[in-house]
Amino acid sequence: MNGRVAAVVVAAGRGHRAGGDMPKQYRQIAGEPVIRPTLSAFLGHPQIAAVQTVIHRDDAEAFQAATAGLKDLLPPAWGGATRQASVHAGLEALRAAAPDVVLIHDAARPFLSATLITRAIEAAREHGAAVPAIVIADTVKQIDEHELITATLDRNRLRTVQTPQAFAYELIVGSHRRAAAAGRDDFTDDAALAEWAGHRVRVFAGEPGNVKLTTSDDFVRAEMLRMAALADVRTGSGFDVHAFTDGDHVMLGGVRIPHTHGVTGHSDADVALHALVDAILGALAEGDIGQHFPPSDPQWRGAASEKFLAFACERVHARGGMIAHLDVTIVCEGPRVSPHRDAIRARIAAITGIPVGRIGIKATTSEKMGFTGRGEGLVAMATATVRLPWSAA
Ligand code: MG
Repeated sequence: MNGRVAAVVVAAGRGHRAGGDMPKQYRQIAGEPVIRPTLSAFLGHPQIAAVQTVIHRDDAEAFQAATAGLKDLLPPAWGGATRQASVHAGLEALRAAAPDVVLIHDAARPFLSATLITRAIEAAREHGAAVPAIVIADTVKQIDEHELITATLDRNRLRTVQTPQAFAYELIVGSHRRAAAAGRDDFTDDAALAEWAGHRVRVFAGEPGNVKLTTSDDFVRAEMLRMAALADVRTGSGFDVHAFTDGDHVMLGGVRIPHTHGVTGHSDADVALHALVDAILGALAEGDIGQHFPPSDPQWRGAASEKFLAFACERVHARGGMIAHLDVTIVCEGPRVSPHRDAIRARIAAITGIPVGRIGIKATTSEKMGFTGRGEGLVAMATATVRLPWSAA
């Protein structure tokens, strides 16, 4: 039996236990919102045909920002008052995709592997209802309301369960409809709901690393793990020059700055962004800006250089990495850069998605010496620090 497999990713919770000023699924780990690697794991799996996210109405903007550029994601469904209602909404939204198997997963578990997804699909096909489970290493005690131990449980018969929980689609949709009709809205996982509906639910091997991020400590640990994995730390440098010509403004770091001259160049001639692009490409050892955007190609005439910088960032993400820091030095007698420093940093932060605190902008003159000193043009030098997953290459 080889039908369509879909995933429902539940992201409608408010997640206040984790602290912070936004729901935990949108908080960043190593420069990436938690929900993004979760969704990427499903979108990138060869057997998953449709990925349905369920979000809170208040989070529409955060969701758009967190998932920008992810391909093939279905428009999100709105969550309900409980986790159970949110899952139900996601399942009903998948009706048109006509899956035969559906995996239901928490957005706050970003570390699941492709192997676990494959195992979940196989288990659902074989058993109709199955959930990933972890063997308990600690001895488990039952206690009473006075914190007195009343029993030592046989841990060989106990498991903690995770997501993705995997089901035949009609089985789990039918169970949700029955639970809703019966006025039950208190099931905290879909296995319990399927059991209530009279189905037999099997367990299969979960993954110890597939943790649910719940507390602040979980986030600290996850950040440390992620940064340890991004151990290939590289520095790239970039350099760019453009000559002044007639005009009334220059583009610097994506910001339009009024000036007595304009700048010659094929694109918008933004030396700061061009130097940054080369710095990032240099860190990746993936050529230079001229190779990716040839000046001979008419499509780049007058182009906003922000496109080039966004492209360089995409290359970093495609390699599974992050930009840790960007630094630019601009050399010119004029215009004065310092009044625009914060605007430039904010613009670069908006293009790259990295925090302003990781973007340095400096300016200097060349003491009236050389071509910059004579006011013939301007120069930018940049460095980029990029972290990639460790590999031998
Ligand atoms: Mg240039």
